[in-house]
This record gives sequence, structure tokens and C-alpha cells, in this order.
Amino acid sequence: MANQIDGKKISAQIKEELKERVTAMEAEGKKVTLAVIQVGKDPASSVYVGNKKKACAYIGIHSLSYELEEETSQEELLALIEELNGRKDVNGILVQLPLPSHIDENRVIRAIRPEKDVDGFHPESVGKLCIGQPGFVSCTPAGIIQLLKRSGIEIAGKECVVIGRSNIVGKPMALLLLRENATVTVAHSKTENLKEVTKRADILVVAVGKPKMITKEYIKEGAVVVDVGIHRNEENKLCGDVDYDDVWPVCSAVTPVPGGVGPMTIAMLMSNCVESAGGWFSGSEPV
Ligand code: NAD
Repeated sequence: MANQIDGKKISAQIKEELKERVTAMEAEGKKVTLAVIQVGKDPASSVYVGNKKKACAYIGIHSLSYELEEETSQEELLALIEELNGRKDVNGILVQLPLPSHIDENRVIRAIRPEKDVDGFHPESVGKLCIGQPGFVSCTPAGIIQLLKRSGIEIAGKECVVIGRSNIVGKPMALLLLRENATVTVAHSKTENLKEVTKRADILVVAVGKPKMITKEYIKEGAVVVDVGIHRNEENKLCGDVDYDDVWPVCSAVTPVPGGVGPMTIAMLMSNCVESAGGWFSGSEPV
């Protein structure tokens, strides 16, 4: 029978710690400012941006909001990023993805100065993670490490399997688990005998993007299962990549959807913002 890993509670703890930290920084005359850029009016992006601004307000991070027209050219967006790169009062820059198809996302990600890259997507940030130097780490995998640590789950020496190899979840997740001294396997769409691979896992992180794909047949008795997926099912209810009710009796701990990984992503973004203003790197130390 599994313990439920409570992402809501742990993310709330992190936000409280950050709030205290920001208050202390303010007393020293340091202000934390995040610039948030959204191009177009994609409804899902608007919800994400709104949640990020709300979290900033709660913690005491000043947010600057840039809501640009869908037709904004790549040059205009790059010019805005350049201006924000040069502003001393702006610590972090976040460009909400996806961008309209006429804008090259990689070009935009590369334009953000690595010191302000609070999403951790810049090639320099990814490279630093790869070679073990402090830098910004992609928020979702960084949040998963915090979920595990703060739930008292040992990572060092464990067999960890990550399903998914995306740039924002699977790959940085594998690198972070490696940094925590786990033995790491990355499975993906071309992996053969997936069940045999996942059944080796003491810790299984699922970022496959397929609703309820992972059932108990994929899981070793007593494993810890982390579900990154977010989907809406036929009844418009949220569900993950893992069939929670099916795996629950088999594993020792599992993250629910909602209330697992999701809330951690924003908490870690806030943590990166505080770092960007001269705090510390959650990538290298627990917040
Ligand atoms: P993605 O589509 O970029 O990557 C999916 C990965 O799964 C790919 O690397 C692919 O190789 C692998 N895959 C696909 N089918 C497979 C199969 N049958 N067997 C094994 N591997 C297979 O997705 P992503 O951006 O990494 O996101 C994954 C999920 O996590 C999505 O549901 C997404 O919505 C969710 N997500 C949640 C958060 C959060 O904050 N909770 C953040 C990012 C993504």
C-alpha cells in the first residue's frame, strides 16, 4: 500500500521559505523582479502565466508583465529580451512557451542571458547541469528532486528509470538523478520491452505524455512512482500518465495528479527567481 507524496504541502512549504527569504533580502535593500512575456492569447498559457504572477505576488517577488500581440515579430521579441537583459532591476526573464509558429523558440531561449534564465532552458544552463556546475535547472525535474528528498526518499544508489527524454523533463530529470548518485536508465518511444526496464526501478519517473499508460504491470513491488503527466479525461477531470488506482496497491509511494508534481513546478520557478536575485542555486542545494 502506497503513501501519497503530497506536492501541495511540500510546494507550500517551499513558498513559505522563499517568502521569508525575500523578506530578508528586502530588508537588505534587494528586490526580486521577474519579467514574464506572453506572445498571443493561448488560453492554457494565460492560466499558467496568471498562476506564476499569483505565486510571485504571494512570495513578494515583483513581476513585470508583457502581453504581446500574436503578430509580434521575432525581432520585436528579441529586442524586448535584449532590453530586459540589460536592465539591472530585472533578475529573471520568462518567455511563456509555446510561441506562435513564426517565432523560432530556440532562438528566443538562446537570447535570454543565462544569469536571468529562470526556466533553465538555455543551452548554457543545460550544459552546466550536465557537467555538474551550479546553474538554473528546469523547474519540473528540480521540483521532483525536492519532492523525493522532502518525503524522506533515498535516491543515492537506487535504480531510477525515467520514461521520456524531452529537453524540459526527461533529460534534465535523468541528469539530476545521476547527480544525486542514482543508477539511471532513460526509456523512450523506441525502448524495447518497456515493462522489463521499468520493473527494475526503485524510483520510476513517468513523463510519457499518455494518459494512464502506466499500470501495475510496469511496476516493481515497493517502488516509488512519480507521475509528471497532466491530461484531462473524458469527464474533464485531471489525470496523469500513471493509472493511480491501479498502481497504488503495488508501490510504496506515489504522486497524485493533481497535487503531485504540478504545484512543485511553480514553486521551483519561484526558487529560481530568488536565486537570480543573488540568493542561492536550488540546482546545487535543496531550498
Ligand atoms: P514530450 O511529449 O516532449 O515527451 C514524451 C516522451 O515520452 C518522449 O521523449 C517519448 O520518447 C516518450 N514516449 C512516448 N511514447 C512512449 C512509449 N509508448 N513508451 C516509452 N516512451 C514513450 O512530453 P514532456 O514535455 O516531457 O511531458 C510529458 C508529460 O508531462 C505531459 O503529459 C506533459 O503535459 C506533462 N508535463 C507536466 C509538467 C508539470 O508541471 N507537472 C511539466 C511539463 C510536462
